[in-house]
Amino acid sequence: MTPPLRALRTRTTVALLFGGMLVAAAVVLFIIQPVVKGLHASLERDENELTDTEARKRVALLALRDVEYDFLAGKLDEVDYRSLKSELTAEALAALEADEAVQGGSAATAGADLEEEIAQIRAGLESGTGCGACSFINDEGSRFCSSCGCALPAEVAG
Ligand SMILES: [Zn+2]
Repeated sequence: MTPPLRALRTRTTVALLFGGMLVAAAVVLFIIQPVVKGLHASLERDENELTDTEARKRVALLALRDVEYDFLAGKLDEVDYRSLKSELTAEALAALEADEAVQGGSAATAGADLEEEIAQIRAGLESGTGCGACSFINDEGSRFCSSCGCALPAEVAG
């Protein structure tokens, strides 16, 4: 005896819905992964709780980094890039100063860290080792991202 067709359909629909939810959850995890990684990287030297100003600073820095990526990936034209960058730099600096006021750190040092981070990203992208998908900087000569497995543009560049 086969089960009634309607019951079978219901089961299939439930299974599909559940599968869809799993896929959606996986996609969300995949998307936030680099952000979470970025936060961890920035906290390596300081395991303290993320303060509001620290969080604001990270958001501004990550946005700034994304702008760098998009520009270098050709997704932004130079006019948009410059306007977004100056906007985000202003926000990042304001956040850095607020963070300095709260934590007693040095905004100059944090600003230098930012410049250094962006320089690294830029160098990584230009040499084809920076992953455009997840921001991971790979060893020179890598053809695929060690972090997410995406193909790297190294072969195209040289
Ligand atoms: Zn990657």
